[in-house]
Amino acid sequence: MVIPAITLILIALAVLILFSASLNMGWGLYLPAITRLSPLRKEVMLTFDDGPHPVYTPLILDILRENRIQAVFFCIGEKALENPGIVVRMINEGHKVGIHTMNHSVGFTVASKLMAEKDLDNCRKILTDITGIDIVLFRPPFGVTNPNIAKAVKRLKLKTIGWSIRSFDTIKKDEHKVISKVGKELHNGAIILLHDRLNSSPNILRGIIEALKKQDYKTTII
Ligand SMILES: [Zn+2]
Repeated sequence: MVIPAITLILIALAVLILFSASLNMGWGLYLPAITRLSPLRKEVMLTFDDGPHPVYTPLILDILRENRIQAVFFCIGEKALENPGIVVRMINEGHKVGIHTMNHSVGFTVASKLMAEKDLDNCRKILTDITGIDIVLFRPPFGVTNPNIAKAVKRLKLKTIGWSIRSFDTIKKDEHKVISKVGKELHNGAIILLHDRLNSSPNILRGIIEALKKQDYKTTII
């Protein structure tokens, strides 16, 4: 049997759309995700992924405290186990903590529903044990979502948080370029994706706070 070319094109297109949707949380095809806060307020939310880092996260917390800014930290379970005191400090200083899987492995993006649920639940238990707070915020590693992750998130009643400004701080070598990119993209309700595990993280944060002040943006948390 010969499959007509048009059918092949449609199949390829469907695969492309499903794949693209897995990389674009904002489309909400697999699970609802918050990628922006209120467009009516001149406020943004700073979020930090992949910590807690024993050296850089405390520096980030110092800068936030100096500037009286609260942020959300999406923590990796294994790193939280290694640095519980830093997680406690986050909570004590008014920040929020969220789940960023047990070890940020690429395997999570292709995990079965059961494996994904186990991973997220383990991470949640670690963060809940450390903080004494029921942790419900979740950010998928690499921003990847799919039906299995969606089912796990639904069963655990987690709230998925995406972003509207990606700093590319893990990719761009020049921290000034990172700061200027974020500064140009600022908008009401922006959720800014940063990391607290890089040598450049403290300087980038200082630069972004400067940009926020210049453009008269306040910060908020969800
Ligand atoms: Zn990450």
